Amino acid sequence: MNSAEIRQKFLDFFASKQHQIVPSAPIVVKDDPTLMFINSGMAPFKDYFLGNKPAPSKRIADTQKCLRVSGKHNDLEEVGYDTYHHTMFEMLGNWSFGDYFKKEALEWSWELLTEVYKLPKDRLYVSVFQGDDSENLPMDQNAFNIWKSMIAEDRILMGSKKDNFWEMGDTGPCGPCSEIHVDLRTEEERAQVDGKSLVNNDHPQVVEIWNNVFMEFNRLADGSLVKLPAQHVDTGMGFERLCMAIQGKRSNYDTDVFQPLIQYVAKEAGVKYGENEKTDIAIRVISDHIRAIAFTIADGQLPSNNKAGYVIRRILRRAVRYGFTFLDFKKPFLFKLAEVLADQMAHVFPELKQQLGFVQRVIEEEENAFLRTLENGLKRLDALEESFKQNNNTIDGKTAFELYDTFGFPLDLTALIAREKGFTVDEAGFGVEMEQQKNRSRNASATEQTDWIILQPDVVNEFIGYDCDTSASHIVRYRQV
Ligand code: ATP
Ligand code: MG
Ligand code: MG
Ligand code: MG
Repeated sequence: MNSAEIRQKFLDFFASKQHQIVPSAPIVVKDDPTLMFINSGMAPFKDYFLGNKPAPSKRIADTQKCLRVSGKHNDLEEVGYDTYHHTMFEMLGNWSFGDYFKKEALEWSWELLTEVYKLPKDRLYVSVFQGDDSENLPMDQNAFNIWKSMIAEDRILMGSKKDNFWEMGDTGPCGPCSEIHVDLRTEEERAQVDGKSLVNNDHPQVVEIWNNVFMEFNRLADGSLVKLPAQHVDTGMGFERLCMAIQGKRSNYDTDVFQPLIQYVAKEAGVKYGENEKTDIAIRVISDHIRAIAFTIADGQLPSNNKAGYVIRRILRRAVRYGFTFLDFKKPFLFKLAEVLADQMAHVFPELKQQLGFVQRVIEEEENAFLRTLENGLKRLDALEESFKQNNNTIDGKTAFELYDTFGFPLDLTALIAREKGFTVDEAGFGVEMEQQKNRSRNASATEQTDWIILQPDVVNEFIGYDCDTSASHIVRYRQV
């Protein structure tokens, strides 16, 4: 089954269970001061759970573009090194807004995985929140009991609050969740740890694929839980991981979601994928990062020097540096990949194709700008290597800041290079330098104008109105009190 069919079968399955299929929301968030990018399928539906807006339908399903590189979910460090964390990925999801609950949700997950996708039952594990097996719960609301009728009891693992209780924030809707994990180990690998039940983190080939969240409580400011007036279901399944499981691969990168990109990069570099760990990691990083870069630019987020724009610039520079160092890409190359991706994804995400010319121009310009200074920055690092060794194998804050300020190295890029050489970075020292520079520029220009303001959680912000009345731009103003 190819990835396009796998995605379609998910949507068709939930359509057959009376779900309204909706398109993915943009990956870039513009109207939520707490979130820069969509990081899960439920994020665009927050208002429905909070009761701020009525849901258009009680049952919804979709595939949602997600990005996990900042804030609560940051998987950047894993990307390229493990086989199943990406920066940008698709989250397949189905939702009930005050309609069906645990029984239907879990039974449908099982039906879809084992009957439609035909994943072997003895390769699946599920986890349940301890407490979600309580005798006091009605039978159809006891997750443990529901699972017991479908899967062998020793494949049901009880989980703690940390892993199996989902909360939107310190307060707000929350509830227990039940995850499904797939065991992709070979027989040999299984024999080595025989008998032991595994979930992800225990073995790199045992991977979480689907999370079913049951929102039934509201957490109040005093920490107590009250039942919500209606019960909701929120599920999220990693599309690329699902493809790996169904296609019998050991890595997301071996599926047809990533292979066109992987093969294109390998060919450009004149290497073969799968023969050298260093070049393989670089190829995976690039194939991953181009998706984050292209999807966010196509949704309107330009790389820049602050906030969401800087997140994109950081990812782009990370990709350029991997190509430069490990694949000998000395000229812009990422922009070409945007076309490979657009061709591959146009049938689901037409925006990539519609915006292709623009996306490529922006990427190529960024690549050119960074390539102009990258080599000099790397030389500077090499020249200082002895002094880092004498400084306790640490790159000092001043140098890290110089790399940032003069050569355009995001701090995490310097940290990455440091890690490869066995050094660490004095991040606190970097912070001090950064603060000093901010003070200098603050003094130079008394007011900074941006069209978005991140609210500080610990100060009260009082809305004082719109700053200007031209229809093209309105600047929201807050005063801190
Ligand atoms: P993990 O424990 O593997 O980091 P998670 O528990 O953080 O995953 P959830 O927040 O439960 O993930 O998201 C729902 C599903 O989305 C996961 O079960 C997984 O299949 C997928 N997913 C999560 N993070 C990523 C990622 N960085 N790349 C690809 N898929 C992901
Ligand atoms: Mg995670
Ligand atoms: Mg998890
Ligand atoms: Mg999870």
